Amino acid sequence: MAGQATKQMMPQKKNGEAQTIRRHILIAAAECAPFAKTGGLADVVGALPGHLAPLGYDARVIMPFHRVAKERYGGRVRHLRSFSVDLGWRSQYVGLEQLELDGALFYFIDNEFYFGDRIYRGQEAEGEQYAFFCRAVMEALPYLDFEPDVIHANDWHTAMLPMLVKTQYQGKPGGGARTLLTIHNLFYQGKFTFSFVRDLLAVEDRYLTSEYMEHYGLANFLKAGCVFADRINTVSPTYAEEIKTEYFGEGLQGILNARSQQLSGVLNGIDYSVYDPAADASLPWPYNMDDLTGKYRTKEAVLEELGLYQADVNTPLLAMISRMTAQKGFDLVECVLDELMREDMAVIILGSGDAEYENFFRAAEQRYKGRLCAYIAYREDLAHRIYAAADYLLMPSRFEPCGLAQMIAMRYGTLPIVRETGGLKDTVIPYNKYTGAGTGFSFANYNAHEMADAVRRALAVYRDKTEMAALVAQAMAADFSFDRAAAGYSALYRLLLGD
Ligand code: ADP
Repeated sequence: MAGQATKQMMPQKKNGEAQTIRRHILIAAAECAPFAKTGGLADVVGALPGHLAPLGYDARVIMPFHRVAKERYGGRVRHLRSFSVDLGWRSQYVGLEQLELDGALFYFIDNEFYFGDRIYRGQEAEGEQYAFFCRAVMEALPYLDFEPDVIHANDWHTAMLPMLVKTQYQGKPGGGARTLLTIHNLFYQGKFTFSFVRDLLAVEDRYLTSEYMEHYGLANFLKAGCVFADRINTVSPTYAEEIKTEYFGEGLQGILNARSQQLSGVLNGIDYSVYDPAADASLPWPYNMDDLTGKYRTKEAVLEELGLYQADVNTPLLAMISRMTAQKGFDLVECVLDELMREDMAVIILGSGDAEYENFFRAAEQRYKGRLCAYIAYREDLAHRIYAAADYLLMPSRFEPCGLAQMIAMRYGTLPIVRETGGLKDTVIPYNKYTGAGTGFSFANYNAHEMADAVRRALAVYRDKTEMAALVAQAMAADFSFDRAAAGYSALYRLLLGD
């Protein structure tokens, strides 16, 4: 297997026909759509194999067999093997399962103790969950009918894989694989005590130093990934630059600067078959760029569905669809909501998360009954309808590695109002009133009044129907298909493999 990674991707003659070696990519992640999803990571991982296949890759995902996945897909998997792995002094069961879905192969690591309830168990329990997963992935390699040329890890949960490859599996299956670490969110790093990590993954003491995985007195899984991965990427070019600074670096800016030659950004895309206003089963009225009648009918239906009786189809409708965490800029909205509600507009907030924000918006709904709806829940179908119904989507994030919501909004003809950070900066072209160019509105600083100003600029355009229609058309024409993202990953794999 060690020789695999150096094999060139060159045409070979077989039966007189040119053939290309299909490179093998094993994508390891904690979540993957449609099996288990809590955020954008699952969408990206789920979309990669299908989009990489036409580019000449045999890409397969390996993930935990979470309870939610087992409940829905348990009857369709093929059991490949049972074996046990050492985790510290314990020996733990691993069931290796395989499923073929839409032409792509998925592997599942089964263990009811670790994956029988929550996808993320929190704190040390989560560290043990994913230390187990990383060990199980490495030990499963001999049983896969597949030798990975690249092991592609994602976020801290799988970031120990590059370190295991380099420090414990040289000369063994997987030891010759090249490794890529994709950072979807630098905020979460997986930090644990040395004794915990030493015990679980048999990490030698010499790696528990600041040169390797030590970080402020703890063993840091994501730092280990940043040190040992052959390449690192994050999910937008701007965020790849930002994380080298103290403000965005979450303490890892030192290692990210040191590795800046191997660090790059690949902008995510969205799955156009899932997010298509012309064929979206969640919408009462489908529509497309040439005829927006369905968008306005959907707006009327959603205003009624959510009890916004003080608004009608002509009232500008501003939405937020988001996890309610500090990252997403809810502080700014809290600060100027009353000021903004003096404008003629209606607001829908769909999200759940921190109690502080949930309560704030529940109270705001009481103050602005019939004009503001705070729907505190995770509801995929409703999210689709709101993307279609709204005129604006507000995303004032403090930081945003990529962000999918603004891309989905544009696809549905809804203009994003964003802070110029990370992927928001890379995807939204701010409206230029002199040239008419643009796909949305933006503001630079994390400041509530700058945000309010951007909202007011957006509302001013609403009053000019021709200008508004032109902007909507430009937003809908922007290309955020996943093909672009897949081409970016292909370029990284080629760099890694010297193809
Ligand atoms: P993040 O991954 O940081 O949460 P993204 O913008 O990258 O943010 O992706 C969020 C995804 O989750 C989008 O597809 C968005 O529509 C969806 N989403 C967020 N909150 C909700 C919710 N309350 N109900 C339904 N979908 C949601």
